[in-house]
Amino acid sequence: MVTFELLGLYIAFGGSVIFVLLFGGLPAFHGTLLGTVHWHLTEGLSKASWTALRRTAGAQGTSCCEAFIARQCGGTSPVLQVLYTLLLAGGWFLYCRELFCFLPQPHAPIWHQYTGAAVLGACLAAFVKACLSDPGIITPENYAKHAALYAHDEVVGQENQQCLVCMWKRPARSKHCSITGRCVARYDHYCPWVGRTIGILNLRWFMLFLLLNILLCSYGAGLGVVLMRSVAGQRAQHVMFREQATGRLLPVSSQPWVLLQWTVQKYPVPVALVIFLTVALVLVSAFFMYHLVLILSGMTSYESYKWTMMYKMRAVEEEAEQIAKAAAALGTTDVPCEEPAWSATGVWRALRGSRKVQGMPANIYDRGPLRNLQDALAPPAWASQALMASGSEAKQSNTGSKKAI
Ligand SMILES: [Zn+2]
Repeated sequence: MVTFELLGLYIAFGGSVIFVLLFGGLPAFHGTLLGTVHWHLTEGLSKASWTALRRTAGAQGTSCCEAFIARQCGGTSPVLQVLYTLLLAGGWFLYCRELFCFLPQPHAPIWHQYTGAAVLGACLAAFVKACLSDPGIITPENYAKHAALYAHDEVVGQENQQCLVCMWKRPARSKHCSITGRCVARYDHYCPWVGRTIGILNLRWFMLFLLLNILLCSYGAGLGVVLMRSVAGQRAQHVMFREQATGRLLPVSSQPWVLLQWTVQKYPVPVALVIFLTVALVLVSAFFMYHLVLILSGMTSYESYKWTMMYKMRAVEEEAEQIAKAAAALGTTDVPCEEPAWSATGVWRALRGSRKVQGMPANIYDRGPLRNLQDALAPPAWASQALMASGSEAKQSNTGSKKAI
């Protein structure tokens, strides 16, 4: 019973932390307990860690640590790609040894080992595709087409904004990736897991990679639960335990809580595998949902970041204006601040980036969920053709070779 309660608490706590980390920073939660917890878990924790490191390791130790983190997480180091491959290989090995060995069961036929292998193969193929795909690098040859693709909204991107490295006017929604050293069309973010910038051309492969990981984790966790239930149910029939209240001897399988506790003790590795897959499923699903909401809102991760910054600035200005107005009305400068209100619908609007704040412009790239989805997942054909025609040009992207237009 204690084991089950601890498991429930662990999942509830993990889910809450993930939710706060992913969504606590949204403008809708500004000034709320959720927003405060988010700040402490992100910026606050980061600041406290660096302060502690500076005090213990000194300036030299801190700069060594900064360089290491920049190389592993922000650079083109393959550490995370190797880690992901090892996780897949190690997970598959353990799953075969600890769970597939129980096949077949009444509700789990033998063919699951083949379909499982197929899902794993698809996941690996999507990973390789995402790792090798081109994000949509802007070259002198395709510059004109990229420049004509979107209009500047003069909010997240200005028409006269120059890329000081490539020496051209930045096409709308593009950004110079400081890690790969090239301008990328409809820049989203740099993903260290696939070692690629995510942009107009490879967002679809990145989303497919996440989707197949969700499929892999849910399939693995679901089949694991079915197998464990079946195996533990059969084997615990003849195992007895003494009920504390009455002192009677009962079969373990007669009490669900006792059966669960017995299963955790008897099969710790398969249970740990199922828990790991469930946690991974929650994490990847939350990340996938975050990107899907942005796509449906006609917004990239980078634009979302800029909108959030602007929203925060505007909210501060709005609050200052209200205080000034209230002060003028009362003829005093000492006016108490009110906590900003938030609601569930406000959260959804903030997630979609369309929350109407006085003085905030609308997102001109939001053309409705379906068209936004089509825009994100089906980039213009000429972009891919231009890439194929200038394959050597794309390969130069990582060499730092630049051409001025
Ligand atoms: Zn550039």
